[in-house]
Amino acid sequence: MTITCVDDNKNPNWLTVEQALQQIKTALQPIQGEEQVAIREGLGRILATDTVSPINVPAHNSAMMDGYAIHGEDLSNDEIQLKVVGTAFAGKPHLEPVPKGGCIRIFTGAVLPDELDTVIMQEHVDVQDNTIKINGEQKVGQHIFPIGGDITKGHVALKAGKKLLAAEIGLLASLGIAEIRVQRRLKVAFFSTGDELCSIGSVPQVGQIYDSNRYTLYSMLKQADVEIMDMGVVRDVPEDIEKALLLAAENSDVVITSGGVSVGDADYVVDILKKIGEMDFWKLAVKPGKPLTFGKINNAQFFGLPGNPVSAMNTFYHFVLPALRYLQGQDYTAPFRVKATCLSDLKKRSGRLDFQRGILKANEQGEWVVTSTGQQSSAMLSSMSQANCFIVLPLESGNIKAGTEVIVEPFETLFV
Ligand code: AMP
Ligand code: MG
Repeated sequence: MTITCVDDNKNPNWLTVEQALQQIKTALQPIQGEEQVAIREGLGRILATDTVSPINVPAHNSAMMDGYAIHGEDLSNDEIQLKVVGTAFAGKPHLEPVPKGGCIRIFTGAVLPDELDTVIMQEHVDVQDNTIKINGEQKVGQHIFPIGGDITKGHVALKAGKKLLAAEIGLLASLGIAEIRVQRRLKVAFFSTGDELCSIGSVPQVGQIYDSNRYTLYSMLKQADVEIMDMGVVRDVPEDIEKALLLAAENSDVVITSGGVSVGDADYVVDILKKIGEMDFWKLAVKPGKPLTFGKINNAQFFGLPGNPVSAMNTFYHFVLPALRYLQGQDYTAPFRVKATCLSDLKKRSGRLDFQRGILKANEQGEWVVTSTGQQSSAMLSSMSQANCFIVLPLESGNIKAGTEVIVEPFETLFV
C-alpha cells in the first residue's frame, strides 16, 4: 500500500513575500493629484515635489559655543593674549572690524565676523581686564557652524516621495517655507464580510462574534494617514457583497475587505471579483495569512484579507501597507529589522515564512532579546496586543531552540 503524505504547510506554487510584493508593485501606478497645505498640515503626508532650499542654513558662519571668536592665525603666537574689542550675541552681530591680536566675546548662535574663523570655549580662557589668555590645545576653525553647513542654498533639501514627520516639518520651517505641495490622500473603502459578525452595540446571538477586523483595519488605515470610508459589515449574501464592492470601488482608490476569501462554502468574494473585476487569488507561503486576494474593480485596487484577526493584520502590514505607500508615491522601504536572541523555543514547520508574535527588549548587557507571546493561533488578537514585534522565521526554518539568533520586526517601525 502506498501512503501519500500531503503536507498542508508546503507547496512550491505558493507565492513568497517577495514575489507577491513584486506582483503588487508591477500592477500599481502612483495616484495623480496634489494639494497645497500649510506645513503643520503636512505632518504624515507625502511630499509631491522636491523642495529646493531658498537659503543657506545657517545663513552665516556662526558660533557653536559660548566663548571668544578669534583670528585662527593668532594661535601660532607663543603666548596668546588677545584684546576683547566687542561682543556678538545670537541675533545681535558685532559689526565693527576686528584687528589681528583682537577678539570678540561671542555666544552660541551668534554670527561670526567675516575676518574671524575660530571660537575658543570660555572654559579655556583667563580674562583679565579687557584681555584674554588662552589655555590648552586649540585648533584653527573649531566650534564654528559654517554657512550652509546644515542645508545649502539651491540644493534639494527634501525629495518628492518623502513622508513628512516632525524633523521634516521643522526643517521646512528652518528654510522659511510656509506651504508645501503634498500628494492627495488615498481614499480607502473597507468592509467586513461574514454572517457571524455582530457589530459592537448589539448583543451577539449564539455563534456570533464581534466584528473586530473593522476596528483594527480602521486604526491601521488611520495610522497610514489615508482617507477612510468605513462601509460596515456585509453579510455572506453574494448580491450584497457585489453591490458593496461596486459602491466601494466607485468612491475610492483602494477597496479592502476582510473574510470570505478562503475556499469555504460562504466565501463569495473571490467569485464575485472574478465577475465584476480582475482578480488574482493568491496562496502565500506566509503564516499567518495564506489566502490573499489582489485585484481591481474598475479603477480601484482591491485587497481581500483573510478573516482571522491576526492574519488580517499581518497581511495588511506586509502587503497592503507597501501597496498604499507605492500608490501614494512614497519611497518604498523594506520593513526595519534587527537581530535578537530568542529566549523561547518556537514551533515552526518549514514551507512558509512565519511572522510569530514576540516581545522584544534589551537585556542588561544592552543586547536585543525576544520572547514568544506563547500560542500563535491566527485567531488570537491578544497575541498582537501583548507583542511589540514580529519574529520573522524564514520559509525553510524548522523549530527554533531558545538561544538562537532570530530576525525581528518592531511594530513601532511599521508605519514609518
Ligand atoms: P473567513 O476568512 O471568512 O473564513 O473567516 C476566518 C475566521 O475569521 C472565522 O473564524 C471568522 O469568524 C473570523 N472572522 C472573519 N471576519 C472577522 C471579523 N471581521 N472580525 C473578527 N473575526 C472575523
Ligand atoms: Mg467568513
